[in-house]
Amino acid sequence: MSHKIAIDGPAGAGKSTIAKKIAEKLNYIYIDTGAMYRAMALFLLRNGICPEDTAKINAKCEEADITIGYEQGEQVVFLNGENVNGMIRTEEVSRMASHSSVNPRVRAKLVRLQQELASRENVVMDGRDIGTCVLPDAEVKVYLTASTAVRAKRRFEELAAKGGTCSLEEIEADIRERDHRDMTRDISPLKQAEDAVVIDTSSMTVQEAADAVIRLCGGL
Ligand code: C5P
Repeated sequence: MSHKIAIDGPAGAGKSTIAKKIAEKLNYIYIDTGAMYRAMALFLLRNGICPEDTAKINAKCEEADITIGYEQGEQVVFLNGENVNGMIRTEEVSRMASHSSVNPRVRAKLVRLQQELASRENVVMDGRDIGTCVLPDAEVKVYLTASTAVRAKRRFEELAAKGGTCSLEEIEADIRERDHRDMTRDISPLKQAEDAVVIDTSSMTVQEAADAVIRLCGGL
């Protein structure tokens, strides 16, 4: 049977950076489930659907074929056969993903794909509902968090490095709104699994946080 490590938490807690380090160290496959929700969001935006239009999201989401592959060790997300990695990190896609991920059909479709992937390989998977819903039998579950101010500052620096022009205040407001939507939705809301270990990365370096998770994986 394959081994599974689940990492959940709010935006900007450091999930993907840390999950990648762990996957590298343990030679597991890293699966970024947020990228799948982002690819779905891109598909909906390209079809002219707005974030609040639940009926149209329902009607259209089955037409998106989302798969993942790996190129030079990096996860690549394919939307109907097209590599969309370079198009899913915009603020517009983030906003749409936050809305469309509330939709039960969108979730059912992507959870199925995530479970299929994890049944074949040893995986480190990050997202919002991995320990609670996608991989309830994961051997290691981590709830990675950090204060809102720290998470906003990290996102701000990341976006500024890419030439983004959002203010820190805008980013913090956006993070609060996205967290609220993720934590209060009806289906698989973001919450700590009962058997998850909480790691607060507010005053930790990436390496310290990765080491803390790797210690938890000692038995694997
Ligand atoms: O992790 P990332 O910010 O890339 O995820 C984009 C959006 O997808 C999140 O804001 C969240 O609403 C949604 N998501 C989710 N469940 C997951 C992963 C992401 O609902 N497992």
